[in-house]
Amino acid sequence: MRTKLKVIPEPEPRTRATIVSPTAPVIKGPGTDDYTCGNCDRILIAGIAAGKTFKSIVIRCPACGAFNETP
Ligand SMILES: [Zn+2]
Repeated sequence: MRTKLKVIPEPEPRTRATIVSPTAPVIKGPGTDDYTCGNCDRILIAGIAAGKTFKSIVIRCPACGAFNETP
């Protein structure tokens, strides 16, 4: 399954756990669920176990620079 992340405005410094990575996907696992950038559809989180959720982490998309919030 593929889910789009929600694009948010750039968070204030040090207010959110933000992952900034030069390459995508930023997080990779052995599962089946992918999360994509809400702006450009690049896969940011790949291979998450089905049904697993994150505690609202912010990921900066390496492709377009959009800030994406995890569910
Ligand atoms: Zn993007």
